[in-house]
Amino acid sequence: MREIGNLSQILHDNESFIDNKGYEKYQTTKYPDKRMVILACMDTRLVGLLEKSMGIEQGQAIIVRVAGAQIRHPFGSIMQSILVAIHMLKAEEVVVVGHHDCGMQCATKQAFVEKLTENGVSEFNIRMAEHSGFKLDQWLEKFDNVYDSVQQSVSMIANHPFLSEIGIPVHGLVIDPHTGKLELVVNGDQQELKMEGIK
Ligand SMILES: [Zn+2]
Repeated sequence: MREIGNLSQILHDNESFIDNKGYEKYQTTKYPDKRMVILACMDTRLVGLLEKSMGIEQGQAIIVRVAGAQIRHPFGSIMQSILVAIHMLKAEEVVVVGHHDCGMQCATKQAFVEKLTENGVSEFNIRMAEHSGFKLDQWLEKFDNVYDSVQQSVSMIANHPFLSEIGIPVHGLVIDPHTGKLELVVNGDQQELKMEGIK
């Protein structure tokens, strides 16, 4: 793999940042001013674009980033982050943001294993992981439709046993990774109103 990474540049840039007191304009608290937590994909095109296109400044939202903005397990680390954001860091609203042209849309077990092998991971280690009960095909489940995938994440959060009773709105959006244009998939406020109407 690569011989020279970015570390020395990072440390160099950090020194200038500290010397120039670049941090002074970033003073804020750990609590999100807009009282919201966003679950978004880790895609590089969304770095900066996601926040700007949603009008979010530093300190205003907690952002959890994970491949595909997907939640694989109701008690895994992604859901844990969302739960901590709500129950310990004062977030009162969740926004799931999926995007078009997501790398996870074609992430299958077969494609992943091919890349592992290509990058020098031995067949022994791949088999060992599978034999120890690790289900690669469940772990890497590609999605065909970003709207369905966003709805699945929204539903997982909204129906979570640690959230479903407290009325936290969970919204779903899809973003264009080139322009930042957002499409509304689920309006969590209306979902709540509907539920109130039923009562
Ligand atoms: Zn993505």
